[in-house]
This record gives sequence, C-alpha cells and structure tokens, in this order.
Amino acid sequence: MLEPALLPTPLLDCTDEVLARAGVELRLKRDDLLHPTVPGNKWRKLGPNLAAALEQGHTRLLTFGGAYSTHLRAVAVAAGALGLESVGLVRGEELAGRPRNWSLRAAEAAGMELVFLSRSAYRETAARCAADAAVAAELQRRWGPCLVLPEGGSNALAAIGAAAIPGELPDLGERDVVCCPVGTGGTLAGVAAGLPPGARALGVAVLRGGEGYLEGEVAGLHRAAYGREFGNWRIDHGHHGGGYGRVPAELAAFAERFERRHGVALERRYVAKLLAGLYAGVQAGAFPAGTRLTAVVTGLPDPDPDRGQGLGPAA
Ligand SMILES: *Cc1c(COP(=O)(O)O)cnc(C)c1O
Repeated sequence: MLEPALLPTPLLDCTDEVLARAGVELRLKRDDLLHPTVPGNKWRKLGPNLAAALEQGHTRLLTFGGAYSTHLRAVAVAAGALGLESVGLVRGEELAGRPRNWSLRAAEAAGMELVFLSRSAYRETAARCAADAAVAAELQRRWGPCLVLPEGGSNALAAIGAAAIPGELPDLGERDVVCCPVGTGGTLAGVAAGLPPGARALGVAVLRGGEGYLEGEVAGLHRAAYGREFGNWRIDHGHHGGGYGRVPAELAAFAERFERRHGVALERRYVAKLLAGLYAGVQAGAFPAGTRLTAVVTGLPDPDPDRGQGLGPAA
C-alpha cells in the first residue's frame, strides 16, 4: 500500500485572544503531514479506492482534473507507487500544445498519461461517468479495463476513508465540532459518518453558489457508502471568498497572521477559507462557550515554482 508518512496525524492546540474571549477551544488535526505528495484528504480518500483497485485486479486508474488539480497529482503518485498505470483526463484542450505547468509536469513525472479535453467534452464525461453507465462503458472501451475515479476522488469508498479521521480524535462528545473545507464533499461526508453520537461536523464551502447542491452531494455519498443519511452535519456557505480558487486580500492577510501566530503554513484555497470561516463564526458568537472545534488541515500549500510561490524555483 501507499505508506503514510505519519499516522495518526498530530493534533495541535491553538490559543489566542479571539478564541479565549469566546470560551472556544480550537485544535488543528494535521492531516497535511500525512504524506508529502499524496497529502491529507487525498490520501484518506484514495486509500480504500486503491485497495479495491488492487483487489479487483485493475492495472490502471483513470480520473479527471483541472490544470492545477491536487487530486490528479495524488492519483498519479499513488498509482506509480503501487505499480499501476494512470490516465488523467484534463479540462482544457488548449493546454495540450503548451508547456506543462508545474502541477501537470508532476503528474506526468509520476507516470500519468495526460489527455486534454475541451471544456464541454470534459463536463460531459467527468460529470456523468458515475451516474451514466453508457459514459462509463465508453471510457472502458477507449482506455481498456480501468478503475474510474470521479473528479476530486469523492465516491463511497472515499467517504469511508475519510471517516477514519474522527476515529483518531479521542473522547469526542457533545461539545465537539469537527470541521473541514468542502470542495466536492467527500471529506465532510466521511468526517460526519465517523463521528460518535453527540459530536457534529461542520463544512466550509470553498466554492460559490453551492447551496443545496453540496448538501445533496454529501447526502448522496452517505446513502452510497452507509445506506442512510446523517443529521449531524451542516455546511457554511458564507466563506467561499468569492469563488473556487479566489483568495481575496482579506483572506490572504488572515492566513499570514495565522501562520505567524501559530507556525503552520496554510494552503489558501481550502484550509485558509476553513479557518477564516471558523474565526468569523467565533467572533459572531456562532459557537457557545465550551465548544471545542477541531479543524482538519486537509492539505499542504502548493509548491508552485511557476508562480514563484511556495517552495520557489529551487524546489
Ligand atoms: C481536494 C481538497 C479538498 C476538498 O475535499 P473534498 O473532499 O473534495 O470536499 C479540501 N482541502 C484540500 C487541501 C484539498 O486539496
């Protein structure tokens, strides 16, 4: 299997005046330290899927992603580590003829074959492969027998993988709220399903306009993985920062303050939005005194040499 760097991942207590004034505790569940190249929730979600692929005798994984998809890189690395082939269908046919960005380069370096699709072809295939048997069959015809993982990697097995997170948190109860960012909802579905009675899960949506849709995705994953729905979770839609991938100046400033204060580098598109959303909630009195928040740090900041951020060109 794909060995974790560190499991269970550490828990880090955060203290500051904002939290103290509200009587709220905050801990970070450091899933960002889980694996260097298959980070955090991607490792959690892929684990049971990789086990199923091997068990079913698959030699190839196929999945979908955008030009900077962490999921795509994670699948490429995981497949390579297990001796499986991988195919990545990438959104944007215009990328085919251009020099690869750092993210696609990393996926290719790990052995993934990249295929570039027009936006409409991508939408048709990525959105429908799970629900539409004809689309799934066409993929198998074109690429041979392969395990198809949905965009973002969120399926029933992924939720079951993420359900291990609360299992690593001792003595959860009535005062606990376990929190994570929501992209496709697989991580939140798992966190909610893995909680003991009394504890609750809170997701912070990182995309705009997901009201209703994301709740439907999480409930669908619960039905697919557990045969029932759960009533112990909700999604905050007020802290997406303007949309997926958008990092407004205010959010960037929050992240820099948090990093200085707590010494943890924050991934901006998901983790910073989660924490900014939680702090806003604390300041607005959304959590009664005595609440213990546990924020799942789902991933690492991008090592983005193309833009001169992260680890920089030397990395
Ligand atoms: C992919 C990703 C997410 C999104 O998780 P979902 O299960 O799709 O909701 C959250 N955080 C980080 C750091 C990610 O890379």
